[in-house]
Parts: sequence; C-alpha cells; structure tokens
Amino acid sequence: MNPNKIIQDKEKGKVIPNSDLEYFINHYLNGDFDDQSMISFLKAVHKHGMTDDETIAFTKVMLDSGEKIKFSNSDIYVADKHSTGGVGDKVSLILGPIMAAAGLAIPMLAGRGLGHTGGTIDKLESIPNFKTDLPINEFKNNVEKTGICIMSQTKSICPADRKMYELRHLTETIDSVPLICGSIMSKKIAEGINGLVLDIKVGNGAFMKNLDQAKILGKALKNVGDSFKIKTDIVYSGMEQPLGKYAGMWCEVEESMAALMGNGSKDLMDVVFELGSKLIIQSGITNDQTTAISIQENLINTGKAYEKFEKMIDSQEGHLENIDKINRPLFEKTISAKENGYIESMNTLKIGWTTVELGCGQQSNLKQIDHTAGIEFISKVGVELKKGDPIFRFFNSNKDKLNTAEKMLNESVKIGEDKNYTKLFYQ
Ligand code: URA
Repeated sequence: MNPNKIIQDKEKGKVIPNSDLEYFINHYLNGDFDDQSMISFLKAVHKHGMTDDETIAFTKVMLDSGEKIKFSNSDIYVADKHSTGGVGDKVSLILGPIMAAAGLAIPMLAGRGLGHTGGTIDKLESIPNFKTDLPINEFKNNVEKTGICIMSQTKSICPADRKMYELRHLTETIDSVPLICGSIMSKKIAEGINGLVLDIKVGNGAFMKNLDQAKILGKALKNVGDSFKIKTDIVYSGMEQPLGKYAGMWCEVEESMAALMGNGSKDLMDVVFELGSKLIIQSGITNDQTTAISIQENLINTGKAYEKFEKMIDSQEGHLENIDKINRPLFEKTISAKENGYIESMNTLKIGWTTVELGCGQQSNLKQIDHTAGIEFISKVGVELKKGDPIFRFFNSNKDKLNTAEKMLNESVKIGEDKNYTKLFYQ
C-alpha cells in the first residue's frame, strides 16, 4: 500500500477503504512515516470530510490502536457523559457521583481545558493530592469498587488519537466532524461503556455557534455510537451565557460540592438532571423522565450522591480536609453596572478567555494553572440592574492579570432596555 496514494485520494475527495485507513494510521503510529504525511491527510479530511462508513471505520482504527477496558460484572450498567466544552460547565463533577449513587458504573476519562473552555481534569487537580493519572487497572478497580473514577486520558488508550490530536492543534484541523467523532467516540468506547450521553453545547460560548452545526455533529456522533452498539443520547444545551454561578478551577469544585449537597443553581441542575435522566432511562431503572429526575433529587437529598463524591476523592488520594482554607485567592475585583438596565447578553467566549487570562490555563501552559482563579457570576442575562449593582466578581493570586481580566469582563456584558432570556435546551 502506498501512503501517498491514500493522501492523494483523500485530497481528491475519494472514499478511503477501511483497510487503507487502518494501514495509514497504524503505520503513522509506528513511526513508519512522518508528521507531514499525516498533516496532509488531516487537511484533506478537514476539507472533504468522510462518509458515515468511513467515520465508523476511522473510529475503529483509533479504538483498536490501544487498550480497551472490559468490566467483568455484566449486570452493572456502565456509562459515561461527554460535553463538547463550555464555560462554567462542571456537570461531570456532579452528574458522575449522582449516577454512581444510582447504581451505574462511571469510568470517565476526561480532558483538560481546550481553548477558552475549562477542563474537568484541571478542576479536579485543584483538590490537594488528587491523582488523575492512575494505571488502567487501578482506574477499573476504582470504578468497580466505588462506582466512579475520573482521570485523564492515558497513553495506552487510543494512542493514535493522542498522536493525531497534537497535530490537529498545530494545523487548525480540530473542527472537522469526522475527526472529532473518531477522537471522542474511540476514547469513550475504549472505556467499556454500555451507554453514553453527549452534551453538545450551542451558542456564543461553545465551539458550535448554532444549532445547525451542532446537529451535524450530534447526528454523526450518534451514528458512530449506534454502530458500536453503545446506547447514545444527544442533548443540545445552551452556552449563550456561562453555566451556574462560577467559572474557574477550585471555585467550580466548591460549586459542585454545594450542588451535590442540594444547593446547585437551577440552570446547572437542569442540565445535570436532563443528562442524568438519559442515562438512568438507558440503564432501565425507569423509563419515565419525571421519575428519573426525582431519583436524582432523592440521591442528593439523602446525601448519597455527595457520599459518592467523597469516596471518589478518597480513592484517588485527594484531601478534602480544611476545604474552607485551601485555594483562597489573594486578589479579587468586582465589575458593576455602569448604568441602569437589563443584562441583555453576555459574550461567553470572552468570559471563557478571561478565565484563561486569570490563570485557569490551557494545555500548553499547564504549569501555570492558578487553582485559586475564577469568576463569580453575580448577575446573569435577564437580570435588572441599577447602576453600581455587581455583575462579576473575579479573583486569582496573580495581581498583574487582574487588570486585563477587568477590561475583558467589562467588554463581555451588554446592558440595555430589553429583558432577554437565553435558551437552556434546544431540540
Ligand atoms: N475533544 C476530543 O477529545 N477530541 C476532539 O476532536 C475534540 C474534542
């Protein structure tokens, strides 16, 4: 087989046979040809796309490039959730323990912050001593023992994705539906799951800016899930403003703990319960959405969901003692309304980049993550303000960054005469 011919065929928009895809990706992974060939291939896929069958075959090659987890107890429903990324999206930290308390097993391989969006792993690492890089066996044992383990992607799972993902970052080929599908779904399928719920964020703070784009991705993801016999539900949720009360690192962990104790904000809990209902219904516990929601509320009210969270932290060696003393920011500022009026809109993308500016970091400058950093959303879209009322409180431990953050946040909010609403779900 000739790798150049495969690249040329894709550059002409041709469908690549499964065996050629397998050959091309595996030989790249083995180092038989250089990054430049893969870059040409990725650019050709970015331009011409893939058919549904090609996307499925591509996912299989990524999946088969590494280890796959197999759970021995087939009576337990094994499931996971994935979000395409948002601002203030701490749903995994809340949903995971609730699902584990409901009797599901949640093996969650989660990501770090990507661009302006926060990452579950970065947030969890603000918990003192919490381990996010366990060997696969320990990860699996924790899921079997506790019902949940959240850790970062390991070298042994889907190594082809890992190697190609780095190139995609460098070559601006991230936003390709088949490449996203192969990347996300191969890692999820490798977890050994029976079911999956995908939260596709839509709006000015999401990678998918409108519902049409989101639906194309949603359908492609579901198609791959179905073809691997994974029960796959798609939820389209709004990202026209941040989710919940905080965006940042430790502040989001604290908010998640409060939510698990029954003090979550309505928008946040609506998303948690919507996604949770999909998994509870998939698992066969009930087939009724209202019952699925009350099961989740009950697990919070009885303390069982929070107990699972504590067990998860404990089994990953994290410490939750003296939590009111850890990750306290040294500096903070507040942004207040400059005039009377309603908050008409928020630039959620800019708010996300402000968290990065404050120190919430990105993959490339991981070492500089400031776990104390974040933003509190005191007022959100639709709220009526008097001049001087607070909108954002933002904080970190690096004073130099506060001034730029202040400017960015001032530009992120529009106050006017219209009482607008943002949509939390799309059909
Ligand atoms: N997250 C992933 O894991 N892969 C993608 O391609 C995009 C987001």
